[in-house]
Amino acid sequence: MPNAHAALLEPIRVGSVTLSSRIVMGSMHTGLESQPGHFDDLGRFYAERAKGGTGLIVTGGFAPNFAGRMKNEPSTFERPDQVADHRKITAPVRAAGGRIVLQILHAGRYGYHPAIVAPSPIKSPINRDVPAELTAEQIEATIENYATTARLAVEAGYDGVEIMGSEGYLISEFLALRTNHRNDQWGGALENRARFPLAVVKAVRAAIGEALISYRISALELVEGGLTQDETIWLAKEVERAGADCLSTGIGWHEAAVPTIAGPVPHAAFIEPTRRLKQAVSIPVTASNRINLPGDAAEIVAGGFADLVSMARPLLADAHFVDKVRRGRPDLINVCIACNQACLDHYFTDRVITCLVNPRAARENEFSDRPAPAAKRVAVVGAGVAGIAAALEAGRRGHRVTLFEAAKRIGGQFALAADIPGKEDYGLALQGFQAQLADCGVEVRTDTAVDAETLRRSDFDEIVVSTGIAPRPIDIPGGDDPRIVGYSEILDGTVKAGERVVIIGGGGIGHDVALFLAMESNGRQQTREEFFRRWGIGEKPQTHAARRQITMVKRSPGAFGRTLGKSTGWILRQELKDAKVRQISEARYVEIDAQGLHIALPDRNEVLPFDTLVVCAGQKPDRHLADAIAAKGRHVHIVGGARLADELDAKRAIDEGARLGNRL
Ligand code: NAP
Ligand code: SF4
Repeated sequence: MPNAHAALLEPIRVGSVTLSSRIVMGSMHTGLESQPGHFDDLGRFYAERAKGGTGLIVTGGFAPNFAGRMKNEPSTFERPDQVADHRKITAPVRAAGGRIVLQILHAGRYGYHPAIVAPSPIKSPINRDVPAELTAEQIEATIENYATTARLAVEAGYDGVEIMGSEGYLISEFLALRTNHRNDQWGGALENRARFPLAVVKAVRAAIGEALISYRISALELVEGGLTQDETIWLAKEVERAGADCLSTGIGWHEAAVPTIAGPVPHAAFIEPTRRLKQAVSIPVTASNRINLPGDAAEIVAGGFADLVSMARPLLADAHFVDKVRRGRPDLINVCIACNQACLDHYFTDRVITCLVNPRAARENEFSDRPAPAAKRVAVVGAGVAGIAAALEAGRRGHRVTLFEAAKRIGGQFALAADIPGKEDYGLALQGFQAQLADCGVEVRTDTAVDAETLRRSDFDEIVVSTGIAPRPIDIPGGDDPRIVGYSEILDGTVKAGERVVIIGGGGIGHDVALFLAMESNGRQQTREEFFRRWGIGEKPQTHAARRQITMVKRSPGAFGRTLGKSTGWILRQELKDAKVRQISEARYVEIDAQGLHIALPDRNEVLPFDTLVVCAGQKPDRHLADAIAAKGRHVHIVGGARLADELDAKRAIDEGARLGNRL
């Protein structure tokens, strides 16, 4: 039978290099780049993706000089003594049959250190430091630095380099009137502003001969004073003429007030500007941003929108993405849910990245791929994500695993999330888990509650309890009012909320429930058109009035949403602000009666009338089964919320489950 995704598996020539598939692993900082002792880890990380059939890997960005580094820990590649470290990356990738280029990234005014530089001394809205203006001599030296880094990269065994020219870093800053106010030969007319990137491409070409040069170009700037579409097309042609072998499209500056990669962004939302670029040049063009499914990627290539598709996070989520497509088993792909929780949010908080749905990512040496010495019979009780992860890892090591679930479907809290606007991909990830469970022989028994006595008498060698959490009830006089419901009943549709809703709790779930009730999207992802209208891309933003009047209340002081993810929390906060959700902090809950929720605030008392009050007050462990089995003298392993509910999220649950399953 022909492979439905055949377009992704066609080899392609890019410059002097032939790539075995159309999937490119886009550049992503792992946090290991600035730690010379960890280049072996980086090598393992990339080699796994090469083994998995990725056509081309682009490393996280390395700066061409000290001023261009991203953070205080230097991740530069500027000296011959650094070549040996990089061979620890290129050698394993080549041994796995992969192709890899080094991304050269000068952070410009986006660097998180005090010595940042830029074409003009204009502060970025997302950085507290004002950059120093580069002198003409420094500009010439920086161009030379790019060439030196490229030369060293080829010496270290890379197939070439990618020049980072988008997202608001130094090269974007030269190109845009927003950030370039110079009046010398590097500023003013577009030809002058483009002098720096074009000089970089030419210098790099002169330095590395035939080796591959990818140029990352901003297909859509999404900031005022950025390049227009016509200017971008002009630039693309000039970059091709200067010697680039392919263009990789980037979308939006990091300071753009528009989501570009988070969950609410529809799949392949920005493909149109990429198509326009492809039509303007004759070199291959790579599409990117929110392309996480093989079907979308294949359509992009087969439909002529782009020649290659860049995925960074989806290849964190599944190193073997291409291989699964090649085997005709795309259903087994571990789907990236665009949560940013374990990748970008880790990077921004100085932790080495990994992946929420794949805790092996960038931790490859912490998991074993060898079959277990003896196949055991393993019972996993509770098919939330902790249980699923434990069952999958144990199954892969050759154990005979039965996964019990009392509900009719697997997924627990994770399944509830799939109906929240912007989290629709959680449902796709669950489908992937389901297929993987079947593939590694795990017997899944849903609608099956097992009791402690049955387990005690069973011949299971190991019992894993992953029964999750129970929502924390509220302790307020009048708390037995029938209008009070738990968040699960709202999210799973058991209860339909009334017109006036009060939400108790300001954590992640309180915010999600508020958005769910404000938008009532019923699990349907926004269309590209709706998304563009919503965020004012190419037009004035059009927000929708909330479906109901929503008030969120919490006891602690301070603004709402401070516990939300660093790179995505702002989107949720903005959505709720636009939906006119009222948020009240520092409330003391007095009582609930027919009038509503009575609260005492530092300066007044207030009654919040409601038709429905939703409790999102956190969780406590559901440990009944674990305790009952232990009381009967059998050892159990406890993972996820059943072990510790505080600050439980899917990342910790999956990580705990996977690690236990892998060492059984
Ligand atoms: P959470 O983040 O711990 O928030 C619980 C909320 O309940 C707090 O705002 C707390 O506020 C309130 N609360 C605690 N005890 C209470 C009590 N006895 N009575 C009344 N209110 C009480 O828990 P969650 O919202 O259930 O989220 C669970 C986990 O999932 C968290 O780790 C969260 O980060 C994660 N999650 C994240 C997201 C996201 O980032 N978008 C979405 C969903 C879930 P006060 O103490 O101020 O009253
Ligand atoms: Fe995707 Fe979330 Fe994993 Fe990042 S942490 S790669 S966004 S699933």
